[in-house]
Amino acid sequence: MSNSVLTDLVQSLASGSIKIVDLSGTLEPDTPTLQLPEEFGWGKSWPFHIEEISRYNEKGPAWYWNNFKCGEHTGTHFDAPIHWVTGKDHENHATDTLPLDNFIGPACVIDATAESAADPDFLMTVEFVQAWEAQHGEIEPDSWVLFRSDWSKKIGSDDYLNMHDDGGHTPGWEPDTIIFLAEERNVRGVGVETVGTDAGQASGQEPMFPCHNLMHGANKCGLASLKNLDQLPPKGAVIIAPPLKIREGSGSPTRVLALVAE
Ligand code: MN
Repeated sequence: MSNSVLTDLVQSLASGSIKIVDLSGTLEPDTPTLQLPEEFGWGKSWPFHIEEISRYNEKGPAWYWNNFKCGEHTGTHFDAPIHWVTGKDHENHATDTLPLDNFIGPACVIDATAESAADPDFLMTVEFVQAWEAQHGEIEPDSWVLFRSDWSKKIGSDDYLNMHDDGGHTPGWEPDTIIFLAEERNVRGVGVETVGTDAGQASGQEPMFPCHNLMHGANKCGLASLKNLDQLPPKGAVIIAPPLKIREGSGSPTRVLALVAE
């Protein structure tokens, strides 16, 4: 049995005519994590913690390994539909049961870099998406829609979470935009460069956290804390993003790769 598509893929990777772009940040104790408003008493996600077991020493003379722990939604990570109450009754909605085709798919990269720089609370509208479509063509079903904000370039600075007395100020989505993407375009999910898929001020949006509420309600997924979106074309990249197979996992840190034709 032979399949020239796969042979061509392997040859293109070897020759460099398809390049692999790493859309992931490095997991380390400084990796920023989502900070929810404290006044509600909501639970907190563990930051990434790593502890050496041995490193060619008395704890293990010939081997190096670590223990680590973190919240499922730490660093570059996958959001499964079970993450939100609106997605709780879907079938196959967790990291261990999601159909595998959720993990590989085409990307549409919408550049809102200028808008996000001008206004950290920028919310992407349906009109903004439609203006992108007028230029690049309609978003195909099962696409990942990636919100390019260049926000990942702020990692390492307080400007990344951009926390003020009233919470985070980072870009996100108008609720109608999520409804449009989920229902009119039937996308696979959305991906963002910010710490979570919703805007920093999303606890005050209606509905609260609209991307989580409406995307997961539509049984669709999310990718957060992506980087290097500036290395992707508006269309044509293929995203590979399989989360860890945690039983009933709501998400997991994920190595997200993009295949890009040169
Ligand atoms: Mn998440």
